[in-house]
Amino acid sequence: MSEIRTAWRCWVALSGLAVFVAGAVWGASGGGAQPGTADQVPSATADPAVLAPLPRAAPPAEDGKLRVIVFGGHPDDCELDAGGTAARWAKMGHKVKFVSCTNGDIGHWRMAGGPLALRRKAEVQRCAEILGIETEVLDIHDGELMVTMGNRRTICRLIRQWRADVVISHRPNDYHPDHRYTGQLVMDAAYMVTVPYFCPDTPYLTRNPVFLFSEDGFQRPHPFTADVVVPIDEVIEQKLACVDALESQFYEGGCNGGPELLPDPADTAAVAARKQEIRQQFAARFAAVAERHRKKLAELCGPEAARTVRYAEAFEICEYGRRHSEQELRTLFPFFER
Ligand SMILES: [Zn+2]
Repeated sequence: MSEIRTAWRCWVALSGLAVFVAGAVWGASGGGAQPGTADQVPSATADPAVLAPLPRAAPPAEDGKLRVIVFGGHPDDCELDAGGTAARWAKMGHKVKFVSCTNGDIGHWRMAGGPLALRRKAEVQRCAEILGIETEVLDIHDGELMVTMGNRRTICRLIRQWRADVVISHRPNDYHPDHRYTGQLVMDAAYMVTVPYFCPDTPYLTRNPVFLFSEDGFQRPHPFTADVVVPIDEVIEQKLACVDALESQFYEGGCNGGPELLPDPADTAAVAARKQEIRQQFAARFAAVAERHRKKLAELCGPEAARTVRYAEAFEICEYGRRHSEQELRTLFPFFER
């Protein structure tokens, strides 16, 4: 009997030592607060699963600024869908990041591959400077984005690393497969960004962000609903400067363009006229958003202010994000007088 008691005492002592060492290693490795157990050392036990370090929560941003991440299928989608709103957030000191889920390497009628991918990356980097935001282009071939576990993990990690309060993407019903799958991948990351053991290598979020969709005109299975409409008049020059900067897409016509669109580069008047034509096309497109959603603008800004808005961007709330009050939505989109 006494031998058994001695062996039991030794086992308990060793278990205690193992817990102490594991706790010290975890503390030294920077383990942060844990859900519900706030840095507690696990109680003495022989179960190795309890001794393993827990996934870490992302620390909250403490600068009082919002953090917004926008996903688009190609290097131009975020800029067109949310460039004005991004510029407004950025002007207020909030942090915005655009992510293109493909590198855009077939998005031109005359060039493709690596050189085009580099060119398009440079174009969105110029846009990011204009808007005062950050940008990233995933090195996935244009037209080949798929809904895979690997891509879901990539999107989840990007949202977590940005510690996003707001996430915006395409709806999953859209003409382009890269847009549809971007929307699907982002929806699939909603909620999962808060699950500690999904991608445990990247600190998880303790709150599901608010997810929204950018506007499109597709009617099936259901048409876009404008839940938030942001006036962008005060930043319209920045947004139109982005259209200029995305010259492979608009000045040169992108994948469905052709040589007939391009004036002789030596003919400066013709070049200027082509630039002006593009600018007017896009100004009209951004003005049509305000016109389409004038009623919603009146709800958000009041009828007087809504009447004078010329340019806007619209977003639809995705039900898979955090449920929020109208008050919180106004905090996340701090553009409306009350
Ligand atoms: Zn696109």
